[in-house]
Amino acid sequence: MIRFDNVHKTYKTGTDALRGVSFKVEDGEFLFIIGKSGSGKSTIIKLITREEKPTQGFVFVDRFPISKMQRSLIPVLRRHIGMIFQDFRLIESKNVFENIAFAGELVGMPRKKLIQTVDIVLSVVGLRNKAAAMPQELSGGEQQRVAIARAMVNDPKLILADEPTGNLDPQTSESIMALLEEINRNGTTVVICTHDSNLVDRMKKRVIEIEAGRIIRDDMDSGYTVCAVAPHAEGGKS
Ligand code: ADP
Repeated sequence: MIRFDNVHKTYKTGTDALRGVSFKVEDGEFLFIIGKSGSGKSTIIKLITREEKPTQGFVFVDRFPISKMQRSLIPVLRRHIGMIFQDFRLIESKNVFENIAFAGELVGMPRKKLIQTVDIVLSVVGLRNKAAAMPQELSGGEQQRVAIARAMVNDPKLILADEPTGNLDPQTSESIMALLEEINRNGTTVVICTHDSNLVDRMKKRVIEIEAGRIIRDDMDSGYTVCAVAPHAEGGKS
C-alpha cells in the first residue's frame, strides 16, 4: 500500500526533516508512527498525500510512484486516502450530515448514493442520531467520530491519522482507537502518528519510531517503549 525508498526531505529552510527513510506498509496493515515532536512524522504523512515531494528517493502509494506524479492526478490520489487530524477540522457552519456529505460532493458522488453512504458511515461511528447536530454541539470525541465518518465516505483504501487523540481524554481516546481498529479489521489500511504512549502500548501493533528524520525502530506487535511489551510485563510470571 505504501513504500518509502530511501526518502530524504530537506525543506527550503535547510532543515533535514527525513534522512534516508525506507519502509513498506502492506494492504490492510495497522501501523503507529511515533517519535518526539520535530522528528519527521508529519513530513511522512505529507509525502504520502503529496503535500510535499521528497528531495531524494521515492514514495509509492498502491504501487504508484506518487513522488513523480503529475499535479493533475493529486486529487485522484487523495480520493483514496481518508485523513484525520488532531483538531477534527469540521466546518462549523455545516451540520454533521453536511460535513460528511461534503467529502462525497467534492468527488461528484451522486446525491442518492451520498445520502445512503453518509447514513452507513454515521452508523459505523455510532452517531446516526446526531446527523442534524452542529459541530459545536458535540463533544470532542463525537467530533472526532464525525471526522472519521467523513474520512470513510469515499471508501478509502488508506486512512492517515495525525495525532487523532491529541485533544481527547484517555477513555475517549481508547474508543476512537477501537473504532479505527474496527475499520482496519474491515480491510482499510490505517497509519497513525501519535504521542499517546498508553494507547500504543495497549494496542500492540506495528510501531515505527522516528528520531531526527531516521527510522530507529520498526517492530511488529510492539509498544511505545520497547520494554513496555516485554513478554511477561503484564502477567508478572517468568
Ligand atoms: P513531527 O511531525 O514529528 O513533529 P515534522 O515532520 O513536522 O515533525 O517536522 C520535522 C522537521 O522539519 C522539524 O524540524 C520541523 O521544524 C521541520 N519542518 C516541518 N515542516 C516544515 C516546513 N514546511 N518548512 C520548514 N521546515 C519544516
